[in-house]
Order: sequence, then C-alpha cells, then structure tokens
Amino acid sequence: MIEGPVIQVECLCKYYGSVRAVNGISFTVARGSICALLGGNGAGKTTTIAMLLGLLLPTSGQIHILGEELQRHRQRVLPRLNFSSPYLDLPQRLTVAENLMVYSRLYGVSNHRERITVLGRDLDIDSFFKRPYGSLSAGQKTRVALAKALLNKPEILLLDEPTASLDPDTADRIRSILTNYRNQSGATLLMASHNMSEVERLCNQVIILRTGNIVATGTPGELIHRYGRNDMEEVFLDVARGIQPGSLE
Ligand code: ATP
Repeated sequence: MIEGPVIQVECLCKYYGSVRAVNGISFTVARGSICALLGGNGAGKTTTIAMLLGLLLPTSGQIHILGEELQRHRQRVLPRLNFSSPYLDLPQRLTVAENLMVYSRLYGVSNHRERITVLGRDLDIDSFFKRPYGSLSAGQKTRVALAKALLNKPEILLLDEPTASLDPDTADRIRSILTNYRNQSGATLLMASHNMSEVERLCNQVIILRTGNIVATGTPGELIHRYGRNDMEEVFLDVARGIQPGSLE
C-alpha cells in the first residue's frame, strides 16, 4: 500500500500544434476518492484522461500513478488501471460473454470464468451474455463496457461520462454500481461528467477545467459555498462564463 495520492499530476501540458488542449495543470487525487473532472466542451478533459491512460504522450509535465512515474513504468502501472466510456464500442459481432472472455485473457485475469459470472450478476447483464454486443441497447452496452473495465479489479478506474445518454433509472443503477465498487475495493475513480447532480451525489473532489487550465477545485459543498450558489449546475455555469466566486453578492 503506497502512501499519499494515487494520481499526481504536475505542470501537465498537451499541445496539438497551436491548440493548448492542456496547459500546465497540477492536481492530486487521494486513494479511494471519487473525483470529477469537469469543464465545457473542449476544456481538456478527454485529453487529460488519455494522458493518464498512457494513450497520449504529454508535451511536458509529470504524471505519477500509484507511486510510479507513468512514462517510465507503464508496464507496471497500466495493468492496475482501467477505463470505460460509452463512446468506445466493443467488438459488435462477438457475444457479450465472448467479449468479456477476450478482455479477461488480454488482462491476464486469473479465474476469469468466476470473475465474469460475478460481474454478470452484479451488473445484471448475465441474461444477455449470449447476444452479440452490437444488438444491445445503449444502457445495456454501458453496463457491459463497465463489466469489461472491472474485469481486472482496477485500483484506479477512469470514466468518460459514465451515464451519458442513459435513462434516469439505468443511470441511477450505474452510479450505485460505481459507488459499491469503490466501497468494496477501496479503488479510486476519476470521471469526466457533464451531469452536475451526479457529481454532487457521487464525488468528494471536483476539478474544473477551462481552456486547458484548472480554474476551480474543491468538494462539491465547498464550491457551492465559495460561489454562493445553490448547486453544482449553477457553479458550473459561473465557471464556464468566467464569473468569479462571490462576485454576484
Ligand atoms: P468534450 O466535453 O467536448 O468531450 P473535452 O474537455 O474532453 O471536451 P478535449 O477533447 O480534451 O476536450 O479537447 C481539448 C482541446 O483540444 C479542444 O480544443 C480540441 O478541439 C483539441 N483537440 C483534441 N484532440 C485534438 C487533436 N487530435 N488534434 C487537434 N486538436 C485536438
């Protein structure tokens, strides 16, 4: 068990030519946190997550994950992470069970049949194990993608809009699954979201980005208090419009 934050980002930059997608951000995430990465369209959330997953090389800056420098120790770090996004599809023609089998082999999951059975039950997807992934509804696909992301029992789970385009009931179930996983495993969750009530309900840390810079951090309660607002939706609008905390008093 390492001491200190499980994610540590220092002066992280990613430039695409003249576009400063991420412009020197620093933050830490404590073990067991559920941290929201917020910001309007194009703020730099996906770019940041892609760098944390080792999919994109930073232009400059440092990333330490689980006490290791990511760029130097990718092989040690990446097997302890996973990622889920409704925008990334799994192979369409494989059945749900085949998909989970393929990914558990890729991840080197021991006792993979048992793990898939447990996830099938916990995420309530076992009734469509034999159906092709491509035939599922959006909500069913999201649950399968989440099962795939939990196969290796990740210590850090990165999520891109985990409940985007889901009906309120399915979204609520996904939130419960995420909270239960965190509570049972002690894992750390970092999620990009545009759903502010979800952030208030789930997250104990919020990082708000605007044009590649961190413009506000805190717990949802601290941010609502600092901006003199009623909820995170109002805080988000203030931050997006460049309104300073307390300037409306
Ligand atoms: P959204 O909420 O719309 O998904 P985001 O916060 O995830 O937005 P990013 O996708 O990280 O934002 O994009 C940050 C900035 O970088 C945007 O201005 C975007 O146009 C730009 N960008 C992202 N990927 C590329 C790329 N491959 N080439 C050039 N510019 C890019």
